[in-house]
Amino acid sequence: MPVRMTAPVTVSPNTIEYREFDMPKIGPRDALVRMKLAGVCGTDVHLFHGDWNPAYPLIQGHEIFGEVVEVGSEAAIKHNVKPGDLVNAEVLIPCNDCYFCERGDYARCVKVELFGNISCARPPHLWGGFGPYLYIPYNTRLHKFPMDVIPEAAVLIEPLGTAIRACKRSDVSIGTSTVIIGPGPIGLVSVVAAKAYGASPVILLGTREDRLAVGKQLGADYIVKIDSRTAREEVAERVRECVNDHALLAEVVLEAAGTVEAQKMGLGLLRPTGVMTIMGATGMGKTVQVDTYYELLLGEQRVQGSNLSGWA
Ligand SMILES: [Zn+2]
Ligand SMILES: [Zn+2]
Repeated sequence: MPVRMTAPVTVSPNTIEYREFDMPKIGPRDALVRMKLAGVCGTDVHLFHGDWNPAYPLIQGHEIFGEVVEVGSEAAIKHNVKPGDLVNAEVLIPCNDCYFCERGDYARCVKVELFGNISCARPPHLWGGFGPYLYIPYNTRLHKFPMDVIPEAAVLIEPLGTAIRACKRSDVSIGTSTVIIGPGPIGLVSVVAAKAYGASPVILLGTREDRLAVGKQLGADYIVKIDSRTAREEVAERVRECVNDHALLAEVVLEAAGTVEAQKMGLGLLRPTGVMTIMGATGMGKTVQVDTYYELLLGEQRVQGSNLSGWA
C-alpha cells in the first residue's frame, strides 16, 4: 500500500490541480476503498463550473465502484465486507441521528453530507470518487456486488437508484402509463427502472435522436422526438396515442431534463389523478405556474420531487 497518493482536486471554478495526500489511517469504524470506476454526473459538471456553491477544494465524484482494501473491525461487521470485496458507497452520508434518519428516510437527513462535495481540506481528505482511494466513514451505506459484476454496469447503480426512488415515489407499477422527459443518463436509467416495475407504455421524450435510440434499446415502448418548436398540444396528442386508453394522458411523468420548459410540458401530459415527479435539477429560483384549482383540486394531480438515491 502506498504511503501517499495523488488525486485531482477542483480548487476553483474550471480548475483542477493534482495534489498529494497522505493515505488515511483506518480506525475500527472506517474503511478504505480503491476506486475502480467513477461516473461523471451532471452535478459534477455544475460543481466543476462553480455552480451550487461548491465546498472547494474538492475531490469530486459520487458515482462509485471500487474494491475494499482496508476495513476496521466495527466497520467490517456493520457493512459486512472484507478486503477484496467489490462495493458501491451511496452518495449520501447521513447523520443517523436526526428525525428523518430515525424513521429510516435518511435521504432527507438534515445534516447529510455527500461524497464528492466535501472539502478535501478536511481530514482524512479522500472524500471523492475521482481520487484513487475513497475514505469510508461509518455512516456510509456500503453495498456489496457479486465478484463477476460488469464494472461499467456497477458504476451506474447510483443513477439507477435515483430512478428507482422516483418510480417508488410515483407509485409506478404494472401497467402504469409513464412518460419520461429527457433521455440523458437519468432519463435512460429511468426507462430501465420503470420497465422493471412493469410500467406500460413507457414513452421517452427528448430532442436528441441518438439518445432516444438508446432509450428504445433499453426498453422504451415509444420514443418521441421533440424540439423547441414542437407545440405542447402536439406532444400531448402523441402521448394520448401511445397511452391508447380512453384518450387519456399519462398516469406518471418523470421529468429528467432539469428545465422549466420540460416541467411545464410535463404538467400538460398528465391525466387527472396523475403525478409528475421532478428528478432534474434546474437550480435555485426557477418557478413553474400550476393551476391549483383545475389541475390540483379538481384534477387531483400531484407534483413532487424525488432527490438522489436513498431508499424511498
Ligand atoms: Zn449524481
Ligand atoms: Zn440525519
